[in-house]
Amino acid sequence: MDILITEDLASPAIDALAGRLQLVREPGLWKDAAALRERIRDARAVMVRNQTQLTTEVLRAAPNLLAIGRVGVGLDNIDLKTASDLGIVVIAPLDANSVSVAELTIGLLLALARKIPAGDRSTKAGGWDRRAFTGTEVSGKTLAICGFGRIGRLVAARARAFHLDVLVYDPYLPSGAPMPTDSGIRLAASLDEALAAADIVSVHLPLTPETKHLFNARRFATMKRGAFFINTSRGGVVDEAALFDTLKSGQLAGAALEVRETEPPPQPGPLAALDNVILLPHVGAFTVEAQARTFEAVCRDVERILAGKPAFNGVNFSTPRRTGS
Ligand code: NAD
Repeated sequence: MDILITEDLASPAIDALAGRLQLVREPGLWKDAAALRERIRDARAVMVRNQTQLTTEVLRAAPNLLAIGRVGVGLDNIDLKTASDLGIVVIAPLDANSVSVAELTIGLLLALARKIPAGDRSTKAGGWDRRAFTGTEVSGKTLAICGFGRIGRLVAARARAFHLDVLVYDPYLPSGAPMPTDSGIRLAASLDEALAAADIVSVHLPLTPETKHLFNARRFATMKRGAFFINTSRGGVVDEAALFDTLKSGQLAGAALEVRETEPPPQPGPLAALDNVILLPHVGAFTVEAQARTFEAVCRDVERILAGKPAFNGVNFSTPRRTGS
C-alpha cells in the first residue's frame, strides 16, 4: 500500500493521486487504535487531519512509513519527536490556512463589536429592537495580538485597515524577524501590559505547556472592563470555565471561540447559553481556497517523497531518513 487515509478526507487532489498510486481510504480508522496499528504496518505514507493519533506506539508499528501528510497545520496529534527519530518526514503546509484564519478573526471582531449574531437571531425571531443592538466602532480602539507568527501578522495588517491600534505580545519572536514599520503596530513588554491596554484581545499562539490555560481568571481580570476576547488558535489556551465566569460578571463584553478545550464539546455547555458569545466548530481553515491549497500541497509532497524527491513542506526534514523494511 502506498498511502493510507485514516480520516474522512475528500478532495480532487486525493482523487488524482488515487489514479497514480495505491491508495487505501479507511475514513473511520482513526477511531480504533488497535486497527490503526495493524493497518499502518504496510503503508509507505499516511494522510491525516487532526483526529488520527499518530502516537509513539502507532509510529513504531509502521516500519515502512516514509511520510506523514498532515492536511492542516497543528501537529498536536502527531508525535513529531518519534517521527523524526524514526526518520519519517512530517508534511504540513504551515502557511496554507493563514489568510483564512486571519479573515475569520476579523469577521469575529466585527461580529462581536456590532452584535451581529445576536441581532440576526433576534430579527429572525420577529424582533426589531435597534437600541438593544447598539454596537461599538473598532476604529481607534486597541487590539492586542497574542502571538505574532504567520496568522497574528496577517490579522495585524487587516486590523490596521480598520484603523485599530495594534499591540503585539510575543516574547519568542526570532531575532531578526521582520517587524512592521507601521507605527500603529507596537510591541508590548508583557502579556499583562497588552491585556490591560486592549479593547479587544485576539489569540494566535500555539498550544504548549506554557500556553495551556494562559487565559485564566487572573488574566481575564487584568483585561479592561467591557473588552472583547477572540480565540482562533487552540482551545486549550483558554480556561473556558473562567471565561464563562468573567462574561457572567460583565467584566468582558463578549467572546468568540472557534476552537474549544474539547472538540467537539460533549454538550453545548454554559458558554452556548450566553448571547454575547459566538461559537464556531473550528472552521478557521475551512474555506474553499485554504482546503484546496492544503490538499494540493500535501498530496504533491507525499507523491514526491514516494518518488524519492524532497518535500516542499517537510516540518522536520524534507527527505526520509529511513528506507522502510
Ligand atoms: P506561528 O508558529 O506562525 O506563530 C505563533 C507565534 O506565537 C510565534 O510567533 C511564537 O513566537 C509565538 N509564541 C509561542 N509561544 C508563545 C508564548 N508562550 N507567548 C507568546 N507568544 C508565543 O503559528 P500560526 O500559524 O500563526 O498559528 C497560530 C495558532 O493558530 C496555532 O495555535 C495554530 O495551531 C492555530 N491555527 C488555527 C487554525 C484554525 O482552524 N482555527 C488554523 C491554522 C492555525
